[in-house]
Amino acid sequence: MSLTVVGSIAFDSVRTPFGERDRMLGGSAVHFALAASFFTDVGVVGPVGDDFGEAELEVLRGRGVETRDIERVNGGKTFFWRGHYEHDLNVAHTDDTQLNVFGDFEPKLSQASREADVVFLGNIQPELQRGVRAQCEAARLVALDSMNLWIETAKDSLAAAIGEIDCLLLNDAELRMLTGEANLARAARAAMELGPRIVVAKRGEYGAALFTGAGFFAIPGYLLEDVRDPTGAGDSFAGGFLGYLDSLGDPDPPLAELRRAMVYGSTMASFNVEDFGTERVRRLERPEIDARLGEFKALTHFEE
Ligand code: AMP
Repeated sequence: MSLTVVGSIAFDSVRTPFGERDRMLGGSAVHFALAASFFTDVGVVGPVGDDFGEAELEVLRGRGVETRDIERVNGGKTFFWRGHYEHDLNVAHTDDTQLNVFGDFEPKLSQASREADVVFLGNIQPELQRGVRAQCEAARLVALDSMNLWIETAKDSLAAAIGEIDCLLLNDAELRMLTGEANLARAARAAMELGPRIVVAKRGEYGAALFTGAGFFAIPGYLLEDVRDPTGAGDSFAGGFLGYLDSLGDPDPPLAELRRAMVYGSTMASFNVEDFGTERVRRLERPEIDARLGEFKALTHFEE
């Protein structure tokens, strides 16, 4: 039981209608790892600059996340992202992306990271995702997330990366963009034709939809009255989803387990959006997760 994640390790400057933060800890790999750490052993792969301090690493280590494969690049700067959200928090705008140390990063995984059962190729350059995927020969379940930037600027690499995985997680708009299909069911089917046997369409506050050869399942978002910052919700969803699946130790989980994993994903995403960046998940305790999982299942009449 172990999970390796590659993805951005970032400083994020974010503005929402409910406040703003400058250079807070973020990145797809960080949000993912914190969420998954509640269910399994997680190791993060990726570079940081010398502006990334012990305090930031401690946030990960404090949750038991393995940081051995986080490489510090002397003289380099950590990945930086600036974005803002409209009054409708489903509408996000990127104002700046600085790859910095990711620009010429060549991943070299430790033996422990190579031996992971489950691998999450979090949102980052598709060639880097492929580099990590190639080193994880033992992986039984490999999942990938991406975004509009890579669909627009590196589509061929992204298609090649998608051809090498089992599970694709994308926003519904990104799935439409990738495949050119307006209808979500058709878009999911077109994405499966590229390789993955599982496709998850994330739909912001409206929840998520799961497509597999064995069937379809959709789940609403957990209804919250106070949402402060949706940054990282998708990665927290993936962390709950894959963290739960890894904890089962089943390389080919049946539809019933995938459905349950969707509940774990939605629950972890719901905590993430309650505060800025990683702030809510940092103070989260396992009993709160279990309570919300139960409440969520009751509210949605989820059948075990
Ligand atoms: P999400 O879960 O989709 O809200 O992802 C949010 C995280 O993605 C932020 O913490 C950003 O640091 C990170 N991010 C934004 N743009 C990119 C990009 N082009 N590549 C990798 N990570 C990114």
